[in-house]
Amino acid sequence: MHEMILCKLGEVVLKGLNRRSFEMKLMSNLRRRTARFGRFRVYSKQSTIYVEPAEETCDLAGAYAACKRVFGIIAVARALPCAKEKEAILDTAKTYLSSALTAARSFKVESKRADKTFPMSSIQLSQWVGGHLHEAFPHLTVDVHHPELTVYVEVREEAAYVHAPAEPAAGGLPIGMGGRAVSLLSGGIDSPVASYMIAKRGVELEMIHFASPPYTSEQAREKVLQLARELVPWCGRLNVTIVPFAEIQEEIRRNCPEDHFTLIMRRFMMRLADALARDLNCRALVTGESLGQVASQTMDALAVSGDVTDLPVLRPVIGMDKEEIVRIARHIGTFETSILPYEDCCTVFTPRHPKTRPHVEEVREMEQALDVEGLVRRAMEGREVVKLR
Ligand code: ATP
Ligand code: MG
Repeated sequence: MHEMILCKLGEVVLKGLNRRSFEMKLMSNLRRRTARFGRFRVYSKQSTIYVEPAEETCDLAGAYAACKRVFGIIAVARALPCAKEKEAILDTAKTYLSSALTAARSFKVESKRADKTFPMSSIQLSQWVGGHLHEAFPHLTVDVHHPELTVYVEVREEAAYVHAPAEPAAGGLPIGMGGRAVSLLSGGIDSPVASYMIAKRGVELEMIHFASPPYTSEQAREKVLQLARELVPWCGRLNVTIVPFAEIQEEIRRNCPEDHFTLIMRRFMMRLADALARDLNCRALVTGESLGQVASQTMDALAVSGDVTDLPVLRPVIGMDKEEIVRIARHIGTFETSILPYEDCCTVFTPRHPKTRPHVEEVREMEQALDVEGLVRRAMEGREVVKLR
């Protein structure tokens, strides 16, 4: 029998009648994410999903790393199945976990018995396997409270499984169960984290990025695509819609008061994201805004930018400090890319004294000087879609 991956379900198990559809979605996500590592059989039993190699050439380590990032799974373990006999279980534990048993100073065995026809109770099985492992690895002490290594034995319908402790996985809900949203992705630290957090709640994302060539460079654009690529192992396939933004910025600069420049620009971002959401049948917008972080992220400023869309605007990092956001950025692997120094469109034409307590009525008035509809239409016509797999 071959080594395989056991994926433990998270909140999915709590979903009552929906549970089956959650499991089906999770399995199809797992199939897609592991496909590049070989052919795997993916099936579920007793709140565990099994990812089992179906050919010799499978890259199990690669698939294991991929499974760890699939939302909906709280823990993963590599396990070796064997016959449901105590001797086979012992032999498997001895050989399969020999390096872990050699390295540890203390251990215990924990058994679970889903197959109630198995002739020993869980406690008897743990004691029997533990006793014999102790003989084979005499340097070990038995510690049932705080062992360095726990050897897990699960006796299930089809086989017994031996594994070391499971490792924590991504948690959250399976992508696709929470609907679809448009995420505004800049080159900064916050928006990749915000995207990750909403994807973790089961939402499939469509990315939108505003680029302002010639004011912003090819490297700035490449940096954003790189961030999106780094999100793919978490979010699954992503499309990044790149919308040209320079004409809008030039028009605002020419026609609107300088202290309102950023605010009006942000309203256009929301309008364009809203237009894309309607096009792609998405039900919400996602941003990386954090309360008070910059002038355009005060409560009044958020009211002004949120005024142009009827869609819910999800701001998952709204109450987080920069350090907390950075910690997540490091965890998901976007931080190093985010701090590359290329200019984003927000950093061209920044006002010297941005308005922090704007009024919606006033801002609407200022926009009378602009052909809002025409600007939005032309920007959307100039959009380009990059598909990341
Ligand atoms: P980030 O670190 O995510 O860039 P920030 O703190 O720099 O955020 P802003 O530049 O004010 O904040 O942007 C606030 C939010 O607006 C971003 O988190 C992002 O969701 C969106 N946004 C900003 N610039 C762009 C852009 N060029 N393209 C797409 N979305 C953007
Ligand atoms: Mg930014």
